Amino acid sequence: MDRPHDVADPTPRLATLPPPAAGPVAGCPFCPGSEHETPPERWALRDHGPADGPGWRVRAVPNRYPVITPPEGAHEVVVNSDRHVAAFWDLGPEEAAWAARGWWEREHALARDARRTFVFLNQGAQAGASLEHTHTQLVGLPLDPPRLAAREAAFLGGPCPLCADLAAPGDRLVAEADGLVAWCPEVPPLTAVVRIAPRAHAPRWDRASAEALGRLLGGVMRAAAEVVGTDAANLWIHLGRADGPDAVHWHLEAIPRIGTLAGLELGAGVYGLVVDPAVYAARLRNALASPGAGG
Ligand SMILES: [Zn+2]
Ligand SMILES: [Zn+2]
Repeated sequence: MDRPHDVADPTPRLATLPPPAAGPVAGCPFCPGSEHETPPERWALRDHGPADGPGWRVRAVPNRYPVITPPEGAHEVVVNSDRHVAAFWDLGPEEAAWAARGWWEREHALARDARRTFVFLNQGAQAGASLEHTHTQLVGLPLDPPRLAAREAAFLGGPCPLCADLAAPGDRLVAEADGLVAWCPEVPPLTAVVRIAPRAHAPRWDRASAEALGRLLGGVMRAAAEVVGTDAANLWIHLGRADGPDAVHWHLEAIPRIGTLAGLELGAGVYGLVVDPAVYAARLRNALASPGAGG
């Protein structure tokens, strides 16, 4: 991280995302009052009112610009909040739990028909987001994505590597709550990845663990953003197949978008780390202990 730079650093800084809006934003298809701008809803956490009108807290709809369509697969969006919030961590813990409940509800529904489901969130232009109102995407795929297949093969090849890492995270532990652990893996797939997984081995999530995940996630993401210095972020969830092997240990990976991939990574598939996972974890614990201090 201390390398000299004399070309423009492409990493955006903190506070590139706007603060939460006071009310619905004109032109945003995910704000209350603009429900007609999306396809009809598939699910909503709703206080009042009929479908496709205001009165919801979390709302799931088919993606208007899908990467895959029925009958081959599905592509949905979960609008994480009825509030126009750009940074996931600007949701309160209960709001984040409601959002994650929505991810779980729709993942379960899509898993009935799809070979694989994949849940992911892109935040900020650097991370691939095209709309700023916080939302999560789900795809149901008729195939095994290469990275999920490789990860599953690693689980099937011997004792669970996540259980082994979780047994002694030592100074790589970041936070723990409601049976979930956030930690920096000893060998992360990319620099600055934080993992969250249940301490007890489980191939798939349940509603309670999904809601606990939401509660834990915002603080962890905010800490990572403050440590790395960017509010662009991605996260994704690796879940076992509904009819798949018990050897898989479900987990979430979150990553603030630090720098860009270069020749060695893209051409050779060799990834160097620019920060030691234990050093990164210590900085994350500090940021969690004093939220806002690093921003
Ligand atoms: Zn909005
Ligand atoms: Zn395990």
